[in-house]
Amino acid sequence: MVGDTPSPTLPRFAGEGEGLRVRALAVLKDVVDPEIPVLTIADLGILRDVSVDGDSVEVTITPTYSGCPAMHAITLDIQAALTRAGIKARVRTVLSPAWTTDWMSEAAKEKLAAFGIAPPERGARLKCPLCGSEDTEQISAFGSTSCKALHRCRACREPFDAFKCH
Ligand SMILES: [Zn+2]
Repeated sequence: MVGDTPSPTLPRFAGEGEGLRVRALAVLKDVVDPEIPVLTIADLGILRDVSVDGDSVEVTITPTYSGCPAMHAITLDIQAALTRAGIKARVRTVLSPAWTTDWMSEAAKEKLAAFGIAPPERGARLKCPLCGSEDTEQISAFGSTSCKALHRCRACREPFDAFKCH
């Protein structure tokens, strides 16, 4: 049945690139932020686009904070995950338009709070992720990482990290 073996030089057909893109997206769905492992890069809005170029994909990401050391790790994680899936990939970093906390999904904010980090809250008082009190204060603009600020809850007296609004 030699004649039935598909030729490696089969002509490309429409939709071939889309299949690769869908496979790449399925892999990227599991790539998490190294600093906040409950959030995926898609949850955070870091993952901007996946396009197919021939037999490889180009992944476009926008860093949450320029100079955030986690971004280098994220680039490597993306490349490693796609390589494991047998997909050739290139990661492109786009700085403009700048990432904003508005790109985070509501589900992402809920996961963040459940992880003990107050989600970004524009113009509102931060809620303590431990007891839910709004009686909180900022202790330091710098938390455990550059993306977070350190706050304290006056109700339960526990310090907590808050994702900086951006
Ligand atoms: Zn509290």
